[in-house]
Amino acid sequence: MTAKIIDGVAVSAKIRTDIATRVTKLRERGITPGLAVIMVGDNPASAVYVRNKMRACAEVGIQSFKYSFPADAAPQQVLDTIAELNKRDDIHGILVQLPLPPHFAIAQVLQTISADKDVDGFHLYNVGGLVVGDTVFPPCTPYGVVKLLEHEGIEIEGKNVVVVGASNIVGKPMALMLMQRDATVCICHAKTRDLAQFTILADILVVAAGKPNLILPQMVRTGAVVIDVGINRLPNGRLVGDTDFEGLKEKVSYITPVPGGVGPMTVTMLLANTVASAERASGG
Ligand code: NAD
Repeated sequence: MTAKIIDGVAVSAKIRTDIATRVTKLRERGITPGLAVIMVGDNPASAVYVRNKMRACAEVGIQSFKYSFPADAAPQQVLDTIAELNKRDDIHGILVQLPLPPHFAIAQVLQTISADKDVDGFHLYNVGGLVVGDTVFPPCTPYGVVKLLEHEGIEIEGKNVVVVGASNIVGKPMALMLMQRDATVCICHAKTRDLAQFTILADILVVAAGKPNLILPQMVRTGAVVIDVGINRLPNGRLVGDTDFEGLKEKVSYITPVPGGVGPMTVTMLLANTVASAERASGG
C-alpha cells in the first residue's frame, strides 16, 4: 500500500481563501478583525513563529499588533498590557507566544487573557468548554488536525484513535476533540510502557511527542491513518516529524509530511479563531 500524502499547505490555502472572504464581509460592515501578539524575550524560533502568524494575518486581511518585551520584563507589565488589550474593541484575539522566560507564571498570564479573545484556546474557561463539548476556541494545532481529517473525508466516529503525547497544547486537547467526535481514544506519553502495543491498535494515530523516528512501520497497522505533529530539527539542519515517514508511507493509507502537513494548519486555525471571534463580537 502506498499512502496518500496529506497536503497541509493545499488544505490551508483553501481554508485561508474562505477566511479571507469572511474578513471581507466583516470589513464591509466596518469591522477589521484584529489580533494582538505578545512576545517576551528574543527566542529565535518564537520570532519566526510570530513573523509567520503576522504575515498570515496580513494575507487574509486581519490586522495584527505586535507587543514585544525584553526577556527581563516585569510580568506585571505584560499583565497590564493584556488587561488593556482585553478592553479594546479593535482587538478580537490575543495570543502570548510561548515559551515565556522562567520568571513568568504562564498560567497567570494565560488566565489574564479574556476568554472571549483567547484565540489559542488555552484559558481555563476554554479548556473546560472543550471538556464538556461546548468549545469556544479550539486550540489551533489539534483543530488543524481535525480539519485535515475532515478534508480528506476520514471518518472519526467509532475509530480507534491513539494519541502519542499528552501536552496541554496538543495531546490532551487532541484526545478530547476526537473523543467528542465519538472516537475511542487512548493517550500515550513518555511513561507509557511498550508504546507499540497501543499504537498497533490505531485506526488513526496522532503523534505529538517531539522525538524523531519514534514511530516505526512495525508499530502501525497496515492501512492506518498517521498524523505527524512533531517538528524536530536534526543536527544536519533537516526538519523531520516524529515518524519514520519513508517507511510508513509504504504501509499506511494516509500520512502527513513534515514540513507541509500539520504545521501550516496551526497558523490557519489561528486565523479562523480570530475571524470567528470578530464575527461573534459583532453579533454574527
Ligand atoms: P511537549 O514536550 O509539551 O509534550 C510532549 C509529549 O510527548 C509529552 O506528553 C511526553 O510525555 C510525550 N512523549 C515524549 N517522549 C515520548 C516517548 N518516547 N513516547 C511517548 N510519548 C512521549 O511537546 P508539545 O508542545 O506537545 O509538542 C510536541 C511536538 O509537536 C513537538 O515536536 C513540537 O515541536 C510539535 N508541535 C508542532 C506544532 C505544529 O504546528 N505542527 C504545534 C505544536 C507542537
